[in-house]
Amino acid sequence: MLKKDVPSRWIYDYFSPFEVHKHAIKGTIYHGYSEIQEIVIAESHSFGRCLILDNEFQSFEVDEFVYHEALVQPALILHPEPTKIAIIGGGEGAALREVLRHKTVKKAVMVDIDDKVIECSRKYLPSFHNGSFSDERTKLVFKDGRKFIEETDETFDVIIIDITCPLEGGPSFKLFTQEFYEHVRQKLTAQGLFSIQASTTSPISLHTYTVVNRTLKEVFPGVFPYAAYVPSFAMYWGFCLATKGLDPNQITKEDIDKRISERIKGELRFYDGTTHQALFNLPKYVRKAIKEQKHINRDSEPLMEKYPGLVKKE
Ligand code: SAM
Repeated sequence: MLKKDVPSRWIYDYFSPFEVHKHAIKGTIYHGYSEIQEIVIAESHSFGRCLILDNEFQSFEVDEFVYHEALVQPALILHPEPTKIAIIGGGEGAALREVLRHKTVKKAVMVDIDDKVIECSRKYLPSFHNGSFSDERTKLVFKDGRKFIEETDETFDVIIIDITCPLEGGPSFKLFTQEFYEHVRQKLTAQGLFSIQASTTSPISLHTYTVVNRTLKEVFPGVFPYAAYVPSFAMYWGFCLATKGLDPNQITKEDIDKRISERIKGELRFYDGTTHQALFNLPKYVRKAIKEQKHINRDSEPLMEKYPGLVKKE
């Protein structure tokens, strides 16, 4: 009886060769390869559909709102009038969905290196993008995000980085360096903000997060680390807001709630004035590790995480 109730198919989310989280799945919805990466979309029992790229879990249907609201909303709410936004990466279309909720936004450029991820997300992850790929304010660009930022002559009020972690041999490690962040700063308008996902804040894996924070400090006058607990990852996930002067600690929770009610279409599920205060108050061990990190990530020797899972397929 018990045996029959236990799901028999599992997928494995490796955080290191020594730590794996597993999810029972009902089935695989899509499996294929693009020129960039292996793409899997599966239906999990607990957290709904999920996107997996090169064996790395990107997000789950049931709690992706936590990650995507945390990534997008603090930057857009802090800006006095966010009009033009760039998202680098963001394959599922959920960061784009969060940007487009803002009535002030006139143009959202989403730049992903892999058109196949967008094709799959469009088809199999409708609740993630919620039609945002077809919004008339959206411009989709299929290009390496670093190249785009270096070459564009446009400037943006907010630039959001929603790319995969900087894995050795992966497509994203060149977008975590001081040189890249300098290009980003040049493409921001006067009150511009830069928001990025920056790996976990787990106490056993703080290197990437602290190096990203230290590196951003070389480039931006304001650097504000924050984190949110993502249940499907079973850990806190780290983000960082970098600014030319705006400070997320100088806005009251009442002002945040007022801006949300004035500017946003629909109801947010994660972010409000109270959540904002929780996000930007990191625990002591994280603050200490950030303070102690001395390493600046540069193009000459870019940070590359070892691939944590099984051997990457060629
Ligand atoms: N939530 C995710 C996480 O936790 O890592 C990130 C989500 S999103 C699916 C990652 C996207 O970044 C993918 O669609 C991938 O194609 C894109 N990407 C990776 N490297 C990139 C690059 N150099 N330029 C633009 N997009 C990139």
